[in-house]
Amino acid sequence: MSGKQSGPGPRKRHRARNVEPKHHDTYASEAKPAGAQVCDTCGLVQVAGRWSRAEPPVDAVRGALCPACQRTRDRHPAGTIRVPARLLAPRDEIVRLIRHTEQAEAETHPLERIMAIDDDGDGILVTTTGLHLARRIADQLARRLHAKPSLHYGEENEVRVAWEG
Ligand SMILES: [Zn+2]
Repeated sequence: MSGKQSGPGPRKRHRARNVEPKHHDTYASEAKPAGAQVCDTCGLVQVAGRWSRAEPPVDAVRGALCPACQRTRDRHPAGTIRVPARLLAPRDEIVRLIRHTEQAEAETHPLERIMAIDDDGDGILVTTTGLHLARRIADQLARRLHAKPSLHYGEENEVRVAWEG
């Protein structure tokens, strides 16, 4: 018999911890610092790896940068939503809906923010710090415009939303 064994051995394999996800997210906190931190830019507080809009504990360390502010600083959005001019009718109302969606998510998802709403020649380009908000905006716009966008997921936990055709 061959000494080589195929398939699972008689002993249960030691379960691997910390298996690297296929799509690595540079902006997900890797090491969870022991103490609390405060983001100097937006004031969010990180305790046990979780960022929230809490009162910082007295021993909280200042000078940190939360993943949302880091993405904004790097100009590296997680979500991009391109709305063509033909669907921007009227533009103000569409922008208001987008802003309102951000506000509605702010309480439960403080790291999900709009980075910018820019004119991009033919329509607008909305950039977000998180996938969740990008998908919420896509849902809201799909309902408002009666047109479903396509979503393309990128390598690094990113999504691009566009209305084609
Ligand atoms: Zn921040």
